[in-house]
Formats: sequence, C-alpha cells, structure tokens
Amino acid sequence: MKVPFFRPSLTDAEVDEVVDTLRSGWLTTGPKVRRFEERFGEAVGAPHAVAVNSATAALHLALEALGLRAGEGVLVPTLTFAATAEVVRYFGAVPVLVDCEPGSLNLDLEDAERRLSAPAPPGDVVSRIVGLIPVHVGGVMMDVARVRDFAARHSLWIVEDAAHAFPAAWRAARGDGWTRCGEGTAAVTCFSFYANKTLTTGEGGMAVTSDAALADRMRLMSLHGLSKDAWGRYAGGSWDYQIVAPGFKYNLTDIAASLGLHQLARAEVLRKSREEIALGYEEAFADVAEIERPGVPENRVLSWHLYPIRLRLERLRVDRNRFIADLQEAGVGCSVHWRPLHMHAYYRETFGFRPADLPVAAREWPRLISLPLFPGMNAEERAHVVSCVRGLCARHAQTTT
Ligand SMILES: *Cc1c(COP(=O)(O)O)cnc(C)c1O
Repeated sequence: MKVPFFRPSLTDAEVDEVVDTLRSGWLTTGPKVRRFEERFGEAVGAPHAVAVNSATAALHLALEALGLRAGEGVLVPTLTFAATAEVVRYFGAVPVLVDCEPGSLNLDLEDAERRLSAPAPPGDVVSRIVGLIPVHVGGVMMDVARVRDFAARHSLWIVEDAAHAFPAAWRAARGDGWTRCGEGTAAVTCFSFYANKTLTTGEGGMAVTSDAALADRMRLMSLHGLSKDAWGRYAGGSWDYQIVAPGFKYNLTDIAASLGLHQLARAEVLRKSREEIALGYEEAFADVAEIERPGVPENRVLSWHLYPIRLRLERLRVDRNRFIADLQEAGVGCSVHWRPLHMHAYYRETFGFRPADLPVAAREWPRLISLPLFPGMNAEERAHVVSCVRGLCARHAQTTT
C-alpha cells in the first residue's frame, strides 16, 4: 500500500469551472480573478485582496509597497521555507534570522528582541531593522497580540507569511472573539495556493490588507506597473495606459481562479477533514514514547496544513533520515519542514552562520518528520500511516537495560 504525502482534493465543480473558463475564451486575469479576490477577502475579513501567481510574489509585492531598501534588515524566522527570506534579498536587504520557540516552532519573539539589540551574524551589514515576517508554521498562528505589541514597540511593520494559515484564527483567551489570519493581523498577509497548500489553484497566492494605498501599490506592481490592468484594458477599459513604475508579471489567471473559487467554497469542509485526521493521529500516537506529537494548542483554529511529529532520538537506535527512508520503503510519503535557513549553503556562505547561532532550530530539525495529511485520506491510508510509524518505533526502540 502506498500513501502519498499529499493528494489534492479536486471535485467536478473545479473541473467544470476550468472548462467553462476555457470555453469563455478569457484565459488570463479577468472576471473570475476579481470574484476570487472578493470572496477570499470576505473569507478572511480583509477589505482588499490582490490575487497573484504565488505567495512568493505576494511577499515581494508587500515588501516593495512598504518601501524596503538595500541594507535594511528584516526579522525572519530561520525555520521557514526559502521564499520568506529570499524576497528580502531581492531588495539587497538582509534577513536577520531569528530562532524558533521549542514548542510551536514559530518565531521566538524573545530571540527577536535579542537580535534587535545585537543582530548576531549578519549584524555588521544591517543599517536598521525595519520589519518582521512571522510565519504561522503548519497553520498554528503566532500570538497576534504579542507580535503586534513587539512590532509597535520597535516601530516595525509586519508582513505575515500565511502560506500555511488558511483558514486559521487566533484569540487571546477563551471567551474572546476569534480573529482570522488576514483580518488586520499584519500590514499585509500573504497566502499561498501552491499545489499542496490547504487551498490550491495549482500555483497562486493572495496578498490581503486593510490599507488601500498598499493594496493599490501591490495591484499596480503585480502587472508591469501599468496604470490599468489587463481586465481594465481589454474588457471595456481604455486601450491606453501609462507605465508608472517598473513592475512585475505576477497576475493570476482566470484558469487558476476557477480552481480557487470552488476550493474556497469548500475551505471549512476541507479544514475539518484535515482536523479529523490530525486528531486521529494525536490519539493513535498518544502512547508512543519514541515520538512527540504536535498537540492541539488552545485559543487557535488550526488550518492543519501539516502534522509534524518529532522523534525522541535518545529513545531510538536510528536517526531521522533512516526513519524516513524506512517509512518511504513502507509506502508512506513524508517530508521535513524545514532544514533551517541558516544551515543552507547560501545563508551559511553569505553570512557565515554556524548551526549553533540559532540553536533551537538546529536542535529540532533533525527530529522533524511531517506525516501525510490531506482531505480525502481514507481509513486504510490513515491506518497504514499509523501502523508504519508505530511499527518503526517498536522496531527501532532503544532497548533499556
Ligand atoms: C509554500 C510556502 C511559500 C511559497 O508559496 P508559493 O505560493 O509557492 O510562492 C512561502 N512560505 C511558506 C512558509 C511556504 O510553505
């Protein structure tokens, strides 16, 4: 039996909508992108939503709209995907890497505080630190109030990398109302609709904001810096336009938005399905001493993009890589989120990082394994994952003498 790490959940509604788009003859940015933007903005409680062709593009546009300049520093967690930091490098600015909290693996604000006063490598090249890019790892939101307070105290803007965090929500305490990710939680919140994300358009992303000026700038720059976008130009708009800035080519297509509209309509059903599978894992692994489960934090609605377990290596006779190889041999696809950025060749060589510079991430990543978690995983597939993980733990357990 084979269980893939991920399988997208696509229905006839998505297929029919794509076919409808193809038959309409309107393949690029058009009415379906506009509708998708409106509905997505409503879904997260944001007045402005700009659809783009990736979350990376959304992050790039957000930093451009906020005026990031060469030599400035931006606080970025070391435990994240390449995109979060590379967009800072696009400007010749410097990602000031921050360690993670041992529990959630989200950015550690206390460590961020230390990096502000002594930006350990690469401190010498940073003129001043201007912003913060929190990542809600796996779809577990950071404490929004603490992030906001931290940013306000240090006059930093916040751009959220919410690639994992749709739909997700936070509240300060039981009894408080929920705040959705994107509902004023940052200057700009960036979502990903990459193939294996919780809502997919194949490739795609969305930047949401409650700031009309930021939205206007991002929209402008997402299509060559033209004063009118293609929709305006071709569908009743004027043939004439001005280039008002050297923009980018980041617009989403109506073909992609066709998928997004139906994925969005099913978003809560899909979230519940992932939640049920994750809670099943929680129960099935509760008595396995060789692994730590991610757990279910209070006062959060989790998107459940990932189910990352951590191996208790001191209780095992094999390392994580061998454990993954064995899982793969048994037909279970898995992944690791992530090798910390400071342990990648580019960041190591450019900024001289050593693993111990961000010790929590360096210590935790060799224990991490993300298990398959996707809507539509059937009972046999779940049972196979559970029995393989349990079986490997039993087989490789350190025998106590
Ligand atoms: C997937 C991902 C991205 C990039 O998303 P794209 O839409 O592929 O550009 C950025 N950040 C994180 C944390 C991701 O997981």
